[in-house]
Amino acid sequence: MYQSSLSRGDSPVSIIGAGIAGAWQALLFAQAGHAVTLYERSDAAMTLATSHWAGGMLAPWCEAETSEPVISRLGLRSLDLWREHFPDTAFNGSLVVAHARDRADFERFAKLTSGHRRLDAAEVSELEPSLEGRFRDALFYPDEGHVEPRRVLPELHARIAEAGGIIKFENDAGADELDGIVIDCRGLAARDEQRDLRGVKGEMIVVETSEVELSRPVRLIHPRWPLYVIPRGDGRFMLGATSIEAEDTGVSVRSALELLGAAYAVHPAFAEARIVEFGSGLRPAFPDNLPRITVDKKKIAVNGLYRHGFLLAPALAELTLAHVERGAIDNEVMRCV
Ligand SMILES: Cc1cc2nc3c(=O)[nH]c(=O)nc-3n(C[C@H](O)[C@H](O)[C@H](O)COP(=O)(O)OP(=O)(O)OC[C@H]3O[C@@H](n4cnc5c(N)ncnc54)[C@H](O)[C@@H]3O)c2cc1C
Repeated sequence: MYQSSLSRGDSPVSIIGAGIAGAWQALLFAQAGHAVTLYERSDAAMTLATSHWAGGMLAPWCEAETSEPVISRLGLRSLDLWREHFPDTAFNGSLVVAHARDRADFERFAKLTSGHRRLDAAEVSELEPSLEGRFRDALFYPDEGHVEPRRVLPELHARIAEAGGIIKFENDAGADELDGIVIDCRGLAARDEQRDLRGVKGEMIVVETSEVELSRPVRLIHPRWPLYVIPRGDGRFMLGATSIEAEDTGVSVRSALELLGAAYAVHPAFAEARIVEFGSGLRPAFPDNLPRITVDKKKIAVNGLYRHGFLLAPALAELTLAHVERGAIDNEVMRCV
C-alpha cells in the first residue's frame, strides 16, 4: 500500500478555505481528534466563497443525467454523512417537470436517471398543492435532499468549533507559512498552483412571494441548463442556475430572463414575486469537471467540486481523513504526486 508521508497522526492540521469543501474537511478532522485550524479570507458571512451562491441541492440521482458514475458514488456516501452529522437536513426529494414542448427531453431525462417514480397530475398536486393543475406528470426523486448554504455553512463552522477546531476568518493564509498537514481548499483561488482549474459561472436570483409554497426543489427541463426553483423558507425562493464558461461575476439580462421565465413556468404567481437578489458564483472545475484530491509531500489539495460541492464535500473529507490516518487511496479521485 502507498504510505503517505503525510500520515502523521499527531501533526496539527491547517485547512485553507472555509467554503463547503474546507468546512467538511475541518469538521471530520476535528471530530477525529486532530488539532485543526481553518483559515478563511472572507469574514463569517462567507461572501467571497462560491459556496455562498449555491443552490445546496443534494441530488445524486438527478445529477447522473450529465455526470460520471463517480459523482453518484461519492454523492450517495455524502447523503449518509449529511444524515449522520446534520439529522435536520431536508430530505423531501426533488421534482422534475417540463413544458409540453420539452417532452422529448423530459423522457430522455427519465431514461438517463434512476431513483425516481413517475407521478400523475393528481399525485403532483398532492405532493405540492401549489402546483395543482400545472403539470400533467412529473418525476419524483424521493431520496434527494437540499440544504440552505447560507445557514449550513455557519452551522458547520459552529460544529467545527464545538469539536475543538479553531477558525480564523479574514485571514489570508499561504501554505508555506503553516505547520503540520496542510489541506488546500481554496476553490478557484488555488489556480496559482493548480493551473488547469477554471471558473464556470452560475447565476442565481432570489425572489420572495407568499403566493407559492414548495417543500422541495423543482427542476424544469430546459434545453440548455437544468433550471430550478428551491424553497428557502419565509416565502423566499432561489432560482438557479446558469452554467457559462466565463469568469466574470455579472448577471446578464438574458440569464435573468431565462431564470425568471423558468420560475414563471413553474408557477405564474412568480410574476408578482419581489426580486430580492441577483448574484453569481464561479464553480471551480478541472477540464474533466471531476473532483480531485492531490497529495504531495507538503500538502493535500481538494478541489474541482464544480457543480457538486455540497453533494461531494462530506465524502471527499472522509477520503482525505482515511488517507491521512491509514494511507488509504481512492484511485478515482486521488492523485499522489
Ligand atoms: C449558482 C450556483 C449554484 C450551485 N448549486 C449547487 C447545488 O445545488 N449543489 C451542489 O452540490 N453544488 C452547487 N454549486 C456548486 C458549489 O457551490 C461549488 O462546488 C462549491 O461551492 C465549491 O466549494 P469550495 O469550498 O471548493 O470553494 P469555495 O466555496 O469558493 O470556498 C473556497 C474558500 O477559500 C477561501 N480562500 C481562497 N484563498 C484563500 C486564502 N489564501 N486564505 C484563506 N482563504 C482563502 C475563499 O474565500 C473561499 O471562502 C453551485 C454553484 C453555483 C455558482
